[in-house]
Amino acid sequence: MIAPLIDPFQRAVNYLRVSVTDRCDFRCVYCMAENMTFLPKKELLTLEELDRMCSTFVRLGVKKLRITGGEPLVRRDIMTFFQAMGRHLESGALDELTLTTNGSQLERFADQLYACGVRRVNISLDTIDEAKFAEITRWGRLPQVMRGIDAAQKAGLRVKINAVALKGFNEDEQIAITQWCASRDMDLTWIEVMPMGDLGEENRLDQYWPLKDLRARYADAYTLTDLAERTGGPARYVRLEETGQKIGFITPLTHNFCESCNRVRLTCTGQLFMCLGQEDMADLREPLRASDEGEGKLEEAIRAAIRLKPKGHDFDYSRQQVDGQMSRHMSHTGG
Ligand code: SAM
Ligand code: SF4
Repeated sequence: MIAPLIDPFQRAVNYLRVSVTDRCDFRCVYCMAENMTFLPKKELLTLEELDRMCSTFVRLGVKKLRITGGEPLVRRDIMTFFQAMGRHLESGALDELTLTTNGSQLERFADQLYACGVRRVNISLDTIDEAKFAEITRWGRLPQVMRGIDAAQKAGLRVKINAVALKGFNEDEQIAITQWCASRDMDLTWIEVMPMGDLGEENRLDQYWPLKDLRARYADAYTLTDLAERTGGPARYVRLEETGQKIGFITPLTHNFCESCNRVRLTCTGQLFMCLGQEDMADLREPLRASDEGEGKLEEAIRAAIRLKPKGHDFDYSRQQVDGQMSRHMSHTGG
């Protein structure tokens, strides 16, 4: 028997989020500066190294893998990696292989993802207005993403939409986006904007729209039932009785989820972040490269890192300044 990954607060770590690239074909204003500097390619783990890394986590008890980025589907030959992870689904070692994507490449890849065993995707979409979409993503084009969503559903993938709640941007679309999701049988999760990365001219406090306001607006329009469902992450769910949809609220700035946190995040350079909201990380690339067939050094480095998983994060907007501001971008750690 291999001992599972348990942190010092008795939380079992069975969920790994993997950023496979820091690059992206969009430049969402809350995520990246327009002239981002990306990592030199030689810094990245190769696809084979990503496979070894993730396979070791799976051997140590990880049951759910979420592939993210940057935009995971712009990494060259990424389907090779999805195929490699698919074998863990077939063997039963892994329960779920999924991804978070901006949708731009799904028209091309939806069928292949399904063939690799992916059954659900999260697609990030903050507006259904074409002009606003171009404004918020800078480089994205809504019709392309819509074709991606069509392709995903046609391929048999269950789609959930993730939208970042942005003050003065999509406040007036809350119900319209919800109705659009209902018409396509898609659940929807709202995310509070987080203080990740220096964005140059953009100001975090100008963007921040707390989800308690959003929930109150739903309550005006729909009958809400709180759902007990917990994913080990910062999401809380309600059902809209009129449409049957599940609506999620991700409030990373509150602490009420840390005690059940079951996840860690791997960057495309092999750094393991034990908490989204802390700078502490462990380098796994070096032990991976030094490991032999049995991945002994890597396994020991993973166990040592999990022993350092902190109790919680330090984000705080409450004093009208952004405390706990993280210097790294979301696209580095993977959202
Ligand atoms: N490119 C893919 C996408 O957009 O879905 C995956 C990576 S992206 C970093 C993952 C998620 O993080 C997206 O839903 C995005 O909206 C969200 N995100 C990015 N920056 C954020 C921030 N500062 N605060 C909250 N969410 C953010
Ligand atoms: Fe790219 Fe996703 Fe960041 Fe937008 S949120 S810039 S799509 S990584």
